[in-house]
Amino acid sequence: MLEQLRHLSPLDILDILIVAFVFYRVIVWIRGTRAVQLLKGLAVLLLAYFFSRRFGLAATSWLLDKVMTMGLIAVPIIFQPELRRGLEQLGRGRLFTPASRLLGEEDVSRMIQEVVRAVQVLARNKVGALIVLERRTGLKEVEETGIPLDALVSAEFLVNVFVPNTPLHDGATIIRNDRVVAAGCFLPLTENQDLSKDLGTRHRAALGISEQSDCVAIVVSEETGIISVAQEGRLRRHLDEGSLKDLLAGIFKQEATLPFLRWGSSHG
Ligand code: ATP
Ligand code: MG
Repeated sequence: MLEQLRHLSPLDILDILIVAFVFYRVIVWIRGTRAVQLLKGLAVLLLAYFFSRRFGLAATSWLLDKVMTMGLIAVPIIFQPELRRGLEQLGRGRLFTPASRLLGEEDVSRMIQEVVRAVQVLARNKVGALIVLERRTGLKEVEETGIPLDALVSAEFLVNVFVPNTPLHDGATIIRNDRVVAAGCFLPLTENQDLSKDLGTRHRAALGISEQSDCVAIVVSEETGIISVAQEGRLRRHLDEGSLKDLLAGIFKQEATLPFLRWGSSHG
């Protein structure tokens, strides 16, 4: 080992640094996509395989061996959208842009306050709205269906986006950290059949994205002015200023104070 280290040339060190940097950038980039959950699943399988081999569990390791062979074929198929987008981004030189910073507690409070204020105005005036707050699951796929924006969250801006018959009002607006990153986005509709018939596509879209990611989707009904929040495939209805604020604060503040858990604690 030491012998080998002695033969390490500056070129080898550069070589290692390049590989380390590429790995780092790939990990940072993958964190922003759905692929991170799949990767964790694969890591669990690998670990199980390693231990079953280590302790001589022949049948278990046979099974895991087969599953992993299948997995090897499945990975490029499952990751196809991510791989494609990765290559596209590499072509556009976007893979190596810095990762988004984590928000401090004050920024989170301000973001929540502005969103709640906007939702209140929208509800009072019965302006239909759909606002998606991204959390750990990246929403790049959805974002790319809309108009890219980059604006600090403010109640005034959000209200303006949803003014009827303006170019950005149709579809969902996406907020990442404290910035509005896209508007007019198309969300996947829920396939849940048990929903009340008076919930139309806006509410179904909010539920749909909340089933596929850990986001929080806020809906203001154009017909009734009712404020609803979709999260983890559940719709909470008839929220008011106070309950909406408490709900969002409960979800986001906990995250802001525990930033070091962001990588390890995401579920999916
Ligand atoms: P409301 O109570 O506001 O009427 P609703 O649940 O009854 O809401 P619709 O009346 O069907 O829903 O609302 C249609 C609007 O919802 C569209 O104009 C569009 O802005 C938005 N919407 C519909 N489908 C989607 C989708 N898949 N992704 C994002 N936004 C959508
Ligand atoms: Mg409707």
